[in-house]
Amino acid sequence: MVHETRSRTHAAEEGKNAPKGQKEEHKEQEGGKERPSKNKKPVEPEAPTKTKKLKGGESELDGKENSTKEFEDFCKAIREHLSVEDMRKILEANDQDASGPEDAVVQICEDMMFYGPLEKCPMCGGQLECKGWKYKCTGKYSEWASCIFSSSNPPRRSDPIKVPEDISNDFVNKWLKQQEGKGYPKRDVDEEAHIFSGMMIALSGRMSRSHAYFKEQILNHGGKVNNSVLGVTCVVASPAERDKGGSGGFAEALERGTPVVSENWIVDSIQKKEAQPLAAYDIVSDVVPEGRGLPLDKLDPSEEAIETLAAES
Ligand SMILES: [Zn+2]
Repeated sequence: MVHETRSRTHAAEEGKNAPKGQKEEHKEQEGGKERPSKNKKPVEPEAPTKTKKLKGGESELDGKENSTKEFEDFCKAIREHLSVEDMRKILEANDQDASGPEDAVVQICEDMMFYGPLEKCPMCGGQLECKGWKYKCTGKYSEWASCIFSSSNPPRRSDPIKVPEDISNDFVNKWLKQQEGKGYPKRDVDEEAHIFSGMMIALSGRMSRSHAYFKEQILNHGGKVNNSVLGVTCVVASPAERDKGGSGGFAEALERGTPVVSENWIVDSIQKKEAQPLAAYDIVSDVVPEGRGLPLDKLDPSEEAIETLAAES
């Protein structure tokens, strides 16, 4: 359902707002919504459905839980039975990136064997990379701009996994046999729960709604909220705060060069189900001289931006 393409900034987003520590802590908390296959024998008498830990919209719990569990079991088994070297060979045979560090290779291989080989990027033909719950393109548009394609539901091939002949692995053979004639399950990532994953966010000054409200929004979508500006990914403040010269955390953020963004960054990120580039919501670039120079088309076309333009002319 999601085919997010972020068009706001290309270069501007690079580096600047890459969430730190966005590891794989949440990796296995969700999985496909459908059962792996329709024509599968009736397995598993309904396992008691646990309540969903992660907040999310839909309520297709059963299939989802089952498929997640199957994927987890599969991951466990494959780690036991298949060496990383063999995983690399299998990835290569299926035209996937096999060059990463062990962790990445294991993760990519699990994802590919269970959910199907990734197609190339629909925007640039580059390699898509599985980053826990997001798939990002590693390709480039040109020398200076990386491709921004990112999706939680990337295009996948439907052909069976190819295994090089020199790998004779009982586990893999059995798995392939078992998969014969079945389609791949759809990996359904609860992306809403991860929008702000790996981010520490501070709220500053008066906002259009209470801090408690915004805090809840951030927590519900995987982020953390910090009272101090120290070490945060960004500070969220209202433009009015800036106009007053900024109080408390605002001034400190400026000193530290921490990005200060408008509330719309939270609102839009949630709406678009992906953290939006901070640079596009920066409300101090017109205060801090070195922050200038963001091309107009990269500015957030929201009231703040217009306000800024109005103030400048
Ligand atoms: Zn691409």
